[in-house]
Amino acid sequence: MTQSVCILGATGSIGQSTLKILQQHPQEYSVFAVTAHSRIVELVEICKQYKPKIAVVPPHKVDELHQLFVQHQLADIEILSGEAGLIAVAEHAETDVVMAAIVGAAGLLPTLAAVKAGKRVLLANKEALVMSGDIMMQAALENNAALLPVDSEHNAIFQCLPQNYFSAERNGQPKLGVSQILLTASGGPFLHHTIERLQTVTPAQACKHPNWSMGQKISVDSATLMNKGLELIEACHLFSVKEHFVTVVVHPQSIIHSMVQYVDGSTLAQMGNPDMCTPIAHALAWPERIQTHVPALDLFQHSQLNFEEPDTVRFPALQLARQAMKTGGITPAVLNAANEIAVDAFLHGKIGFMQIPEIVERTLNRMENKAAASLEVIVQADQTARSIAQQLVMDKGS
Ligand code: NDP
Ligand code: MG
Repeated sequence: MTQSVCILGATGSIGQSTLKILQQHPQEYSVFAVTAHSRIVELVEICKQYKPKIAVVPPHKVDELHQLFVQHQLADIEILSGEAGLIAVAEHAETDVVMAAIVGAAGLLPTLAAVKAGKRVLLANKEALVMSGDIMMQAALENNAALLPVDSEHNAIFQCLPQNYFSAERNGQPKLGVSQILLTASGGPFLHHTIERLQTVTPAQACKHPNWSMGQKISVDSATLMNKGLELIEACHLFSVKEHFVTVVVHPQSIIHSMVQYVDGSTLAQMGNPDMCTPIAHALAWPERIQTHVPALDLFQHSQLNFEEPDTVRFPALQLARQAMKTGGITPAVLNAANEIAVDAFLHGKIGFMQIPEIVERTLNRMENKAAASLEVIVQADQTARSIAQQLVMDKGS
């Protein structure tokens, strides 16, 4: 039977890669709903090609989209708007699979709605899990939702874990002979820059990742290593381990996407060319496998695979995230919110690159930790952290 797919963030990098895979498998998958935020013309192109039943945009874009739909004979596609629209398609009875590929905290409520509705959720939007951690994992358990990692490292770890890993008890300890998770990091475009050089790097340089083509926010996160920090938190939740079971390994070639070590001395790695279509296809079809256009890895082309320890002095974001995970409560949500504000300020030329982790750290220092007892508490912490970080950005600018 055809699986009906809802793509949250269809106009983005992950959204487009997802569509590319779906296009290759029209018998197995159909596009039920797509969402966009600013790229309305691109959304119309997607709608022309994939003919979804519903499209979701922000309220101020509804008229523009409607006019374009009429112009392109797409008026039978229903338009929904705002957060309510995103939630409606994520939990819709006709949706089987949700690709959660909105960037940042904006994806939290729709992703959680999909999990609560018991969907198969392909998780790219790591910020949602960083913020809501236990609440999201508990909701997946209670509603029998399959929460499948799309982030290449977590998808790799998922592939290297024993099949029955997820049915074993969740207690913060690795299970079934697993001893350590090795989370690989490319190190980003500035891996060997001195601190002095890091002070003056530009947004354009930060967005030019050596191995992956991605949205702007995650590209900057990769350059600061905050992406690896967020991924460390993501791994702790997905695989139910405390932070000291996750070791970050810099591997500049991005051929090994992560590893799992076992008590008997084995280390299992998942390898492949760096192309997000592989983890997306894996999560879509799991436990089966489907074809992608990604070429098989040619190891003769990769005669060297290097590994090094991350430098937490030049890249303090990683340590801030590790500490946030250790502290728990609302702290990971605060870290994420401050980072979103700081990255946006950097992209708009308001602050320098090294001020990103500085603003995150100062925001963390200004907020008292408390238990992430409910979604409301988390959303409130996110909002407060955003205003503090925004104020710190303004102080820098003056
Ligand atoms: P992009 O910036 O390319 O795409 C983001 C998507 O989210 C777009 O469709 C965008 O709409 C939409 N969006 C942005 N802001 C909002 C908002 N406020 N409300 C609703 N929708 C919004 O990002 P990526 O595709 O690169 O990343 C998406 C997620 O996947 C991120 O969480 C990222 O960390 C994660 N990820 C990405 C990887 C990659 O290779 N790209 C790898 C692993 C994880 P529009 O474009 O119309 O404005
Ligand atoms: Mg990743």
